[in-house]
Amino acid sequence: MEKQNPLQNGNIVDVSLLAIKNGDQGGDGSALILLGTGCSGAVPNAMCLIQPTDPPCHVCPQSLSIPPDRNPNYRCNTSLLIDYCSSDGLHNYTIIDVGKTFREQVLRWFTFHKIPRIDSIILTHEHADAVLGLDDIRAVQPRSPTNDIDPTAVYLAQYAMDSIVTKFPYLVRKKLREGQEVRRVAQLDWKIIEEHYDKPFVASGLKFVPLPVMHGEDYICLGYLFGEKCKVAYISDVSHFPLTFPSNTEYVISKNGAGQLDLLILDCLYKQGSHNVHLCLPQTLEALKRICPKQALLIGMTHEFDHHKDNEFLMEWSEREGIHVQLARDGLRVPIDL
Ligand SMILES: [Zn+2]
Ligand SMILES: [Zn+2]
Repeated sequence: MEKQNPLQNGNIVDVSLLAIKNGDQGGDGSALILLGTGCSGAVPNAMCLIQPTDPPCHVCPQSLSIPPDRNPNYRCNTSLLIDYCSSDGLHNYTIIDVGKTFREQVLRWFTFHKIPRIDSIILTHEHADAVLGLDDIRAVQPRSPTNDIDPTAVYLAQYAMDSIVTKFPYLVRKKLREGQEVRRVAQLDWKIIEEHYDKPFVASGLKFVPLPVMHGEDYICLGYLFGEKCKVAYISDVSHFPLTFPSNTEYVISKNGAGQLDLLILDCLYKQGSHNVHLCLPQTLEALKRICPKQALLIGMTHEFDHHKDNEFLMEWSEREGIHVQLARDGLRVPIDL
């Protein structure tokens, strides 16, 4: 029988996923908040609502009757908020990826989980579902008509920077052109992650190790490893783990390599088959068996996944394989000792 615990808003999640920590630190310690757990197109899939098939999709229409905060099958673009409580009791808020649905995620989950601001931003890559919300960062920055505020640090690879310069030139340009009026835009301090991805960096007091993975045959995306007390890896966009180039990411996060992760948050696009730029459930579960984390949460799902039903299947798989894995859901808060 699945152990379940009601959250304040009526959501049901597996109780064992609610606490990953060494000590008992109550509600004020560090936590991970899954701001988004869906694919690039997000769930519901608009076509399932405007041109329903016969028989209709059984997942997407739920969004017409259940509010998003109570509907685990309502999934925004993948994004993770790390609420890091340092030893002095101060909280720092780091967000990984700011996609197309960023504003909606802020309105829904920053208010619910009482997140007052963003201290730093980390990008995995520059695809639309990871960066198209950057313009809206100004909505969570102090208001200044002259843009005279502390910029928010953004950590990203050089290739992502090159793409953002063309997507958002006004977020990168420092100086106004002659005669140009000041317009209020997000103030960002771009910090390039070194090309070989072998050096950790510190964002808002927490150390991050870049985890290069393949996101298609010709494209490298970054996951991240963080946490000193509990080790967490976040890999949202991966088709396969290369064994040598650009670095042996799989070794770094494996129980049989550099040591067992406490939590792996991993890409899982479709339920069946395979995909050229993402892992699908069969490959995700194979990767979990090789990497062998203590717990795993799956993200990036399409409307093929029905949260409660598929989590029942995953619960059986977990018991069989000895690795606790569940589909994540938007808004899930995981207290964790970082
Ligand atoms: Zn659908
Ligand atoms: Zn992508």
